[in-house]
Parts: sequence; structure tokens; C-alpha cells
Amino acid sequence: MQKYDVIIIGSGLGGLATAVTLSREGMNVCVLEQQVGFGGCCQSFRRKGYTLDTGIHYVGSLCEGQIMHQYFKYYGVMDRLNLQKLDAEGFDLMCFGDGKIYPHAMGYERFVDRLVEAFPEERAGIVAYSKRLQEIGKLITVDVLRSGRLSAGGMEFTALSAHDEIASMVQNPRLRGVLAGSNRLYSGLADKSSFYEHAMINHSNIEGAHCFVGGTQHMVDALVDVIRAQGGEVRDRAEVTGIHLTDDRVSFVEVNGEERLEAKYVISAIHPATTLDLLRNNTVIKKAFFTRVRSLENSFAIFTTYLMMKSGTFRYENRNYFLHGDANVWLNEADYKGLKIPSVLMCMQPNGRDEFADVVTLLTPMCMSDLAPWLDTKVGRRGADYEAFKAQYAERVIDYAADYFPHLRDAIAHVHTASPLTYRDYTGTPDGSAYGIVKDYHNPIVSHLPARTKIANLFLTGQNLNVHGCLGVAVSSAVTCSELLGMEYLAKKIGNA
Ligand SMILES: Cc1cc2nc3c(=O)[nH]c(=O)nc-3n(C[C@H](O)[C@H](O)[C@H](O)COP(=O)(O)OP(=O)(O)OC[C@H]3O[C@@H](n4cnc5c(N)ncnc54)[C@H](O)[C@@H]3O)c2cc1C
Repeated sequence: MQKYDVIIIGSGLGGLATAVTLSREGMNVCVLEQQVGFGGCCQSFRRKGYTLDTGIHYVGSLCEGQIMHQYFKYYGVMDRLNLQKLDAEGFDLMCFGDGKIYPHAMGYERFVDRLVEAFPEERAGIVAYSKRLQEIGKLITVDVLRSGRLSAGGMEFTALSAHDEIASMVQNPRLRGVLAGSNRLYSGLADKSSFYEHAMINHSNIEGAHCFVGGTQHMVDALVDVIRAQGGEVRDRAEVTGIHLTDDRVSFVEVNGEERLEAKYVISAIHPATTLDLLRNNTVIKKAFFTRVRSLENSFAIFTTYLMMKSGTFRYENRNYFLHGDANVWLNEADYKGLKIPSVLMCMQPNGRDEFADVVTLLTPMCMSDLAPWLDTKVGRRGADYEAFKAQYAERVIDYAADYFPHLRDAIAHVHTASPLTYRDYTGTPDGSAYGIVKDYHNPIVSHLPARTKIANLFLTGQNLNVHGCLGVAVSSAVTCSELLGMEYLAKKIGNA
């Protein structure tokens, strides 16, 4: 007899959103998480008395009536979120090596006005660009949900290049860089990144970028509480070590190499390549599909330098800084391979207590191949040379940021770092990739995997399906849940929550 309706593998936002939704709609769910604690990239952790966030630094569309707000409302956690709206005059600042700084302001009118102040001759192009973002953002509004759809289409935009679309709308090379300047929030590849991904992320931030006061863990805890209150189980230290098939169905899931759990459905909220590796007795999914999924490129990995600041020394700024130096804002692997630093994204965490920052986070793209000497090592046992490497690299990152913030160094109390190996071993993402499968505009059908698999009761969800990030994962979760609940029913439930 099956104990659960649905087993969900992974407790990142993708897994938790799926469990909240299905348990809310009456299903008996069980979430299995390999780590100690829940949340994946949304987990916070403590070092030297400071709270540090694994992944989510800010999230868009969080004003009342906007789409992410609506998803959290439906999940039943909106009232528990401690959010802070970022600076409307410039939630993201694009900083270049010549000292020039350009804001991405919140609200389209302000967004356009601020950019036109800097590039008056480009007004028409800036307006056209804004309209285009809104056209794509409007595909997933609350009204669309209420009409019984999760999205009003728009997949044709996945076949457009972000780089080329921007270039077709504005001429000034610096303005092109400014519009593309937050592309570290996705793969940022000139020859691959799709305009759909660019527009979804930028639109959601322009309409309502917020950060989490005191870190993201309280969001995770709230989701776990709701799942449990709805009768679901959420288990940590429960690594799925096998997905066993009988004919074309999953018959049981193996946990920690010993326990067997059965369910009518299994939803994998981990990387699709890892999901395939877990299949046992598979006769359904063809070798060619394995090859295809394994060959899909993953986004860059990230090296994170956490600066734990001396109390009351470094003023909190309610915005993010993209420090681009003199480099072209678009990336190629060659720009960061060999431990080059092409840019730094600097985010600060508000503490809700005073006007100073406790934690400043510096994010830089990094290649897993640059960590070759330690590829076979495990967390905490990588050796002194690895610790020395991380410390040296962090110094270079701090030097880079200190060019823009001369007082930064003096305010640092402690430094903690997380390399792509850390992400690989904590979240199980192949290559430590930050955002999962690159959504390549040349071949969107190949790089956008569907929720349904050839195995009748196995489904996929999480950041690898559609767009990554908090919003992308929420939408993908709804798409996956709609396979079990029906699209119209679920969309209306979320839209009318
Ligand atoms: C450094 C960084 C910064 C980011 N900044 C932002 C941001 O500012 N805003 C934003 O919106 N997005 C941001 N993102 C992206 C965002 O965090 C992710 O897209 C999203 O959280 C992914 O959720 P997920 O559930 O798909 O995957 P994950 O969060 O990776 O969750 C997968 C979970 O599955 C577990 N797991 C893996 N294998 C197994 C197994 N065999 N058995 C059981 N459990 C398993 C993992 O331990 C993990 O907990 C950032 C990501 C990174 C890495």
C-alpha cells in the first residue's frame, strides 16, 4: 500500500513550492532532502554569529498584486515574509571602470526617465526596450492566472537572443551594456542567453525588487511549516539514492541506500541529469535522451565571498552593485576561466535593526575546471592548499570591489567563502552551476525540458525547467503541479488566493 500520494526529491524552493501546492490541494506529500536542513539555494547558515545566505539575494514582482507576491500568498506564507523593497531610484547600479554609474530604477516610467537622463538621444530605443520587457512580463500576470492559464504563451521569445534584441533597440554601446548589465543573474552568454529569460528577470525586478531582511531562511521555515500543517512530511538527511522502476513506472524510491518509499507520483526537484543517474531498471528512457540531457550546458558557477562587517562601520545601501570594470558585460567562458575576475556583483543584506550592513556578499563567476586539484574532495576535507587558494582568491575579489568602495576593507571583521565545489556538494548541482541548464536561444526546445517524463509517474521541476530564480522556480512548480491537478483549476486557485 502506498503511503504517499507524492514523493518530492529535493527541498529547494522548487521542491517546497511543489509540496505546498500539492498538500494544499489535498495530496499526501513527502519531501526528501539530502542535507541537514532545508532550502537548497534558499538556505541561510550561521558563521561567527552572522547569518549568510546561500543563494537568493533579491527577488522581483513582490509588490501586492504582482506575480511573485501572488504565489507566496497562495503558498500561505506571504504574511510571514520579512521583505524590504529595494531603492526605487536604483535597485541595481551598473558601475564601470571609468567611474560612471547607471541605475536600473523601479517602475517603468522611472526606469525610462533615469536612463534617458544619461542617454537622451536613445529615448525611443529605451522606450521600445521597456515595452518589450512588459510584453513578456505580462505573459505571467495574476490576471493570466485568473483566466485559467499559468502563462499566456510567448515561447517564441525563448528563440530570441538577449544580446541581439538589445542591440537592435539601442545603438550606444554603453547603453547596451547598461541594459544587459544585470546578466550575472542568468547565464549572461552573448551567444546563448535568451531574451525571454532576460526579460522575465529584468521585468520582475523593475516592477518590484525586494530583499529578505535577516536572510532567506525564514521563508524556507514558513514553507516547511505550511507543508507540515497541511499533513505533509518534510525530511532532511534523506538522500535519494535510487529511483526504481517496474516497467514504465516508479515502483519505489530508495533513501540513504536502505529505506524504500512508495508513492503514486514522484517529482524530482533536482538537476535532470542527476535524476536520470538515479534511475534503476530503466527500460523506458532511451540512451539518446540521457546523452542529450548530459550534454546540455550548465550556467557558470559562482565563487561567493561573504564579508562579515564590523558593527556600525559600513553603511547599508538598499541596492545591488554590478561592478563591471572595463570589461564587456557579456560573458564567454574565456572571460572567467583561469580565475579571471570579469565582474563582481555586490549585494548587502539588511538587518532590520540599523543603517549599517552586517553582511556584504560579493559574487564572481568561476569555472569548475579551475578547481581541478580538489574535484574529488569533500566538504571540510579539501586540505590546506584549498583553504589557501580560497583565501587568495577572496583577497583579489575584495581588492576588485575596494576600487569602487575604498572603505570596504577597513570595515571587514571576518571573511567566509563558498566555491563552486561548495555549491556542488551542498545542492548537488553538476559543476556547481549557479542557475542550472543554460536556456540557449538557438535551440529552446532542447534546453527547456518538460515537466512530464516518459516514465508515467515521474515528473521534473525546479530551476532547470524554465527560468531559474525564485520566480522561475515558482512558475515551473505550478506547471509541474498542473500535470496532476489540471492547469485551469490550479491557475485559478493561485490567481484567486
Ligand atoms: C549564488 C547564487 C545566487 C543566487 N541569487 C539569486 C537571487 O538573488 N534571486 C533569485 O531569484 N535567484 C537567485 N539564485 C537562483 C536561485 O537560488 C535558484 O534558481 C533556486 O533557488 C533553485 O531552486 P531549486 O529548488 O530548483 O534547486 P536547489 O535550491 O538547488 O535545491 C535542490 C535541493 O535538492 C537537494 N538534493 C539534491 N540531490 C538530492 C538527492 N539525491 N536526494 C535528496 N535531495 C537532493 C539539494 O540538497 C537541494 O537542497 C541564485 C543562485 C545562486 C547559486
